[in-house]
Amino acid sequence: MSQPAAEKSYDVIVIGAGPIGLTLADRARAAGLSVAVVERELVGGVCSYWACIPSKAMLRPVIAVADARRVNGARQAVTGPVSPPGVFARRDSWVSDWNDEGQAGFVKGIGAELIRGHGRLDGPRRVSVRSASGPTLILSARHAVAICTGSGPDFPELSGLSEARPWSNREATDVHTVPGRLAIVGGGGVGVEMATAWHGLGASVTLLAPSDGLLPRLEPFAGEMIARAYADAGIDVRIGAMVSGIRRPGGAGPVTLTMEDGARVEADEVLFATGRKPLTEDLGLETVDLEPGGWLEVDDTCAVRAVDEPWLYALGDVNRHALLTHQGKYQARVAGAVIAARAAGRPVDPAPWGPHAVTADYHAVPQVFFSDPQVGAVGLTADQAERSGHRIRVVDVDPGAKVPGAGLYADGYTGRARMVVDEGHGRLLGVTMVGPGVEELIHSATVVVSAQVPIERLWHAVPCFPTISEVWLRLLEAYRDGGDAAARLVVTAQVGAEEPDQVLARQGGGADAAEGEDQHADGVQVGLDQPEHADHQPEQDDQGHRAHVSAAHVPGCRFCENVAGSHACTRSVVAVHIA
Ligand SMILES: Cc1cc2nc3c(=O)[nH]c(=O)nc-3n(C[C@H](O)[C@H](O)[C@H](O)COP(=O)(O)OP(=O)(O)OC[C@H]3O[C@@H](n4cnc5c(N)ncnc54)[C@H](O)[C@@H]3O)c2cc1C
Repeated sequence: MSQPAAEKSYDVIVIGAGPIGLTLADRARAAGLSVAVVERELVGGVCSYWACIPSKAMLRPVIAVADARRVNGARQAVTGPVSPPGVFARRDSWVSDWNDEGQAGFVKGIGAELIRGHGRLDGPRRVSVRSASGPTLILSARHAVAICTGSGPDFPELSGLSEARPWSNREATDVHTVPGRLAIVGGGGVGVEMATAWHGLGASVTLLAPSDGLLPRLEPFAGEMIARAYADAGIDVRIGAMVSGIRRPGGAGPVTLTMEDGARVEADEVLFATGRKPLTEDLGLETVDLEPGGWLEVDDTCAVRAVDEPWLYALGDVNRHALLTHQGKYQARVAGAVIAARAAGRPVDPAPWGPHAVTADYHAVPQVFFSDPQVGAVGLTADQAERSGHRIRVVDVDPGAKVPGAGLYADGYTGRARMVVDEGHGRLLGVTMVGPGVEELIHSATVVVSAQVPIERLWHAVPCFPTISEVWLRLLEAYRDGGDAAARLVVTAQVGAEEPDQVLARQGGGADAAEGEDQHADGVQVGLDQPEHADHQPEQDDQGHRAHVSAAHVPGCRFCENVAGSHACTRSVVAVHIA
């Protein structure tokens, strides 16, 4: 056992050099604070090497080819399949062949000190760093220690799992061969994106999702549309397939999965995308009277709630606000300002939407899924808005039918856009878009939701012709023209009304947060088999727009046809449909 070296002091110690830790280090340095960054693996974190970057580097060629095939004239130029060696080479270049020199150089460039090794708390404001070589270092922080250690894959407990050598997000983003048959367990963001990627690379993909379907934290139509597009593309999507057994004797040959209903799936590889767990197990949390292994609950400044003096911060995946790089980096910008203010003895202003509060974590978290079709969403779903006690109106538009820019973008454009309007304040609570190209549209919705733009002012935000963004005009028109009919039908089900932050905090969110967690944990279930779904009442107003209380499937309703045979209708929400 090596002897501790002499203690070194810094203003701020950051444990974990993923995108969030690096952003915090940058902000603290910009405020003139001295910073140590402790990293045990690669500077840049999971995001840079086994998650966001490699997955998007793999998905882009697959979607580029699919997009070309949707455009007559370009389609004819696509004469072969996606090239796996080309895709892997592109990905390898984006992850710098898993070499972190560039990002380590960033740390040096901002004037922070990079300390390689495993960091653990060692009592208040102290961190020990153990490395494979060299003595254990003891660091002390004058102002703050920030835990930015991220999350790891959360596998289900199945006997024979380790012998079966399942893939996690790591193998799914760093292997160099395409399996003939790939089974993916989990219907959240990672499962859905990896299904698009590996199917596009030529694998025969079986996607096994729990009964709440694909992307269960989003508006139900998103997962429904993906399931249907995947089935059309030849991906074997099985909803309600719960894996209860796994076997790969001797770790060689095919892997066999057994479902709870006895069905079997054989594959050459299996990816478990079944959720994430916080990397807080071996972090010395017990030395500051915190429970190891759990998510770290933080206040609006990202200070850990259970610690009296605000010196310990938890940012990014570990605080479970939203398991997304951009949201964690937002937290790092806010917490960086908080730490700088406290270090300088300036007051901290944690008022909502102020410089020292992560208010957007509760009201305006944007997400994009680079599946085919793509999905973008921000803010509350209709169901979440209702459960937060809002009086809402839901407006849906089919861009393929109503927006020339969509048709120009892709022949036969298939998509859907929804906005959830807070009728009490005339503002948008949430927006969801599905379809080609929506990943670049969702920021407009994020601005609208986070800035709480009055819906009347949105008429003056003119989208360019002919872009997909003109979907905004159709949403506004549908909202305006469907007003009377919809107003008659508004039903506000105050089912256990909750504050938005309670709903969002409980629902987590993020690329992989969905898997393995129950979206309707409070017992509020949405499904066709509910008695209240029987009273579906389509109506037509005098402008020919149809409105109905979304409930069970109704023949002839465009919305329900989009989701036929499944449970897309959210209870008691008014949906306005363009006939
Ligand atoms: C397949 C996949 C795709 C995703 N795609 C997207 C996407 O497109 N967009 C998006 O916004 N989000 C995406 N995410 C989520 C995103 O990856 C995470 O939200 C993000 O990585 C969180 O950043 P972080 O800095 O908190 O953690 P990480 O990126 O995990 O970094 C944490 C770092 O801390 C280090 N560390 C841990 N413990 C210690 C310790 N004790 N001592 C020293 N160092 C330690 C780790 O080695 C790691 O480098 C994706 C996730 C997955 C799994």
